[in-house]
Amino acid sequence: DLVKESYKRIKEVDDQVHAFLTLDEENAIAKAKELDASDVKGSLFGIPSGIKDNIMTKGLRTTCASQFLDNFNDPLYDATVVQKLNKEQTVKVGKLNMDEFAMGSSNENSSYNPTRNPWNTDYVPGGSSGGSAAAVAAGEVLFSLGSDTGGSIRQPAAFCGVVGMKPTYGRVSRFGLVAFASSLDQIGPITRTVEDNARVLEVIAGHDAMDSTSANVDVPKYTDALTNDVSGLKIAVPKEYLAEGVSPQVRESVLEALKVYESMGATWEEVSLPHSKYAVATYYLLSSSEASANLARFDGVRYGVRSENADNMIDMFKNSRSEGFGPEVKRRIMLGTFALSSGYYDAYYKKAQKVRTLIKNDFDKIFEDYDVIIGPTTPTPAFKVGEKTDDPLTMYANDILTIPVNLAGVPGISIPCGMTEEGLPLGLQIIGKYFDESTVYRTAHAFE
Ligand code: GLN
Repeated sequence: DLVKESYKRIKEVDDQVHAFLTLDEENAIAKAKELDASDVKGSLFGIPSGIKDNIMTKGLRTTCASQFLDNFNDPLYDATVVQKLNKEQTVKVGKLNMDEFAMGSSNENSSYNPTRNPWNTDYVPGGSSGGSAAAVAAGEVLFSLGSDTGGSIRQPAAFCGVVGMKPTYGRVSRFGLVAFASSLDQIGPITRTVEDNARVLEVIAGHDAMDSTSANVDVPKYTDALTNDVSGLKIAVPKEYLAEGVSPQVRESVLEALKVYESMGATWEEVSLPHSKYAVATYYLLSSSEASANLARFDGVRYGVRSENADNMIDMFKNSRSEGFGPEVKRRIMLGTFALSSGYYDAYYKKAQKVRTLIKNDFDKIFEDYDVIIGPTTPTPAFKVGEKTDDPLTMYANDILTIPVNLAGVPGISIPCGMTEEGLPLGLQIIGKYFDESTVYRTAHAFE
């Protein structure tokens, strides 16, 4: 029944929201019937879910919202996270829209019809996991998976008023996630409540021999952490996270949230993340460098669409890439190739790696004295469709508060934290120590 409800809702609203790229109704209904008849019940038994379209699903079209993979209808295997969800008997209803290859902050880089914000369809849902956040916010699925390289789970969760977790780097296997920037990418859940989020992460987390960067660290029962007890919790609030550029209503909502924490017995102090001002530049150098290498596999031979307009091999590579990738993906590949090229490597890539270490050290230092860091998820609420498309740099700056977390590799969640007068949601970001998602969930749940 839940699965049928999910398709019913999709038919009602997805014409306007455009959260889904591919639906799998026949198989999903058959799977739900099969589950109905089974005696064993997994922890996500019969729950309808959606999967971001850069996560491989066996036999189910996986496009990364790129024309290059428009015909990639029959992936040969499931990502580890999908295998784990299957084992707990969730039902995947379809694949979710995104910015092409996860590059973007608004969904406007999708090469299909971009997703809209369900609260007001004149606004963007955020990105790149905009489809994943919008589908949950619009009630089309009970949870979704997204991926977060520089904010792509937390920022759309904030814009759509839902809960989005980027786990510690290495917590969740990346096997079967189409790589954007391998040293930053993490898969995580998007849900309506913190409790649901903890339940899904419990299922998808854990060591995987198929991903050499997956960490062999025990996965606690995150739902046990939801005690509502935050007395004595020490909160750090980076002054850079409430500084100029952060809109007054966003700042107000965070200060109000801090009052709530105080009333529950937590304390907060202002701290500094002095190198966070370099985070956006560092991120775009490193992530584009990694992307330029990762996307080299798209050559028109092994995957996806091959150009028809070539009569030799080199032209075939060239034309397939020119025709297959959209403008933002090309921009990143060019930037990354330049930063890695001989003569420039030391000045850009190597320098950026050093700054990354400084950013990580800033976090380590704060976590010597505090349990969590709290600030806004984004400097502003959702912006209008089209508002930033002509200016990639303003679009990049929107990730200023989420990117440092990926560079350091620590976990971060975005939870709803009030609304603007125009009826757009705001997000509160809670950042934790390495592999301490439990404290992040406990802090988030107490606020709900
Ligand atoms: N918006 C950022 C970018 O464009 C982050 C994307 C992401 O986290 N996948 O790179």
